[in-house]
Amino acid sequence: MSAPVNSACPPWCDQPAGHLHVETAGPGDYHISAFTLIDLPEIPGIREGTALQVAIEQYVTSTTTYDPLISLGIGDDDPDSEALTLDEADALAAALHRAVTATRDGQARQIPNGDGPT
Ligand SMILES: [Zn+2]
Repeated sequence: MSAPVNSACPPWCDQPAGHLHVETAGPGDYHISAFTLIDLPEIPGIREGTALQVAIEQYVTSTTTYDPLISLGIGDDDPDSEALTLDEADALAAALHRAVTATRDGQARQIPNGDGPT
């Protein structure tokens, strides 16, 4: 019998100490951070109300500690989620930031000072 690899929690894991249960020849377990929930209220005609869930998870088996992944889910309950590597999550965040900046810059040019709501 070998002890589980690295059963200590990484600093970001917010589960109770000793939560990890890894069977020697069975399935592994996950370190998980509490997800960040971003509420997305309904925009009539555009989208129904839903939520974005961002979580960190790391799969550990008795022989392998996998790289942590960023889980991105859409939906209130039991969301469809996609796990991203840190580099992929970084690229997504950068792309979102660029898109927001480009859009806000465009709006700033379209609306002259004093013409829009304050
Ligand atoms: Zn943990």
